[in-house]
Amino acid sequence: MAARIIDGKALSAKVRSEIAERVRRLGSRGVTPGLAVVLVGENPASQIYVRNKAAACEAAGMLSRVIPMGADTAEDELLDVIDSLNNDPAIHGILVQLPLPGHIDTGLVIEAISPDKDVDGFHVSNAGLLMTGRPRFRPCTPYGVMTMLESEGVTLRGAEAVIVGASNIVGKPMAMLLLAAGATVTLCNSKTRDLGAQTRRADVLVVATGKPGIVTGEMVKPGAVVIDVGINRLPSGKLVGDVDFSSAAEVASAITPVPGGVGPMTIAMLLMNTLEAAERTPAI
Ligand code: NDP
Repeated sequence: MAARIIDGKALSAKVRSEIAERVRRLGSRGVTPGLAVVLVGENPASQIYVRNKAAACEAAGMLSRVIPMGADTAEDELLDVIDSLNNDPAIHGILVQLPLPGHIDTGLVIEAISPDKDVDGFHVSNAGLLMTGRPRFRPCTPYGVMTMLESEGVTLRGAEAVIVGASNIVGKPMAMLLLAAGATVTLCNSKTRDLGAQTRRADVLVVATGKPGIVTGEMVKPGAVVIDVGINRLPSGKLVGDVDFSSAAEVASAITPVPGGVGPMTIAMLLMNTLEAAERTPAI
């Protein structure tokens, strides 16, 4: 069986054009959604991510403000910047690009962002709301995966969903969203005893470990939907996911490619979260 390829690039373009339309409508209320992205240091990968986020924001008609800060920025200085963004009515979403330099306490910085502007959805109060079934912001990558599954018409109610990888930013919120959609969820981590035995039960398999090729075709249930969140750069320079695409595509009914799968959806959902934050702003 040759799997259908789930085109994240095309879906992301569709979502972004719907967002642009909602941004126009909000404009008639005198509100332009604004996203501030704080970048500390000169990590080249982070610089590219930030540039892409800012460009996507502007293309959707939103205000984007990038705040570059030196690698030696003191923690207090960063907290002051966040405080002023928390109080800036033109800014509806605040994102601090991770990773931060080692001398800065990432947890402290995330908790300093106003939960109402925490468009990454990483603040403990937003994690708690998600866990209790009342999400304010859904973390962008799992939100993008849910949007993909919905657009593919995948039945989640009663489905066996297996997630490989249990990080705070991908695996755990992914589990909460799939559970809320009625799936029976298994969350695997690096200590899972027999990974294949878990993945082979999955109607929906989401893989987010940062380990290229960790899931191969023989670990996939025939007809499963496979979502590959991983982004790994091989020594050859080639970009690959966590799933061995060619063997998994022989068995799955649908699969996301890397690149062009989950990655573009993550940016689209960041814009969605910023838009939703702006839409919640009371009319002046
Ligand atoms: P983390 O390193 O924070 O977490 C990795 C998770 O994978 C951990 O829970 C770890 O287990 C688990 N894991 C590692 N090895 C194994 C194994 N052998 N078997 C089962 N589980 C294992 O990674 P992230 O969640 O931040 O990112 C995961 C991948 O997704 C990366 O490639 C990253 O680049 C990509 N990513 C892609 C995004 C996109 O937009 N497409 C956005 C964010 C991330 P344990 O908890 O036991 O350590």
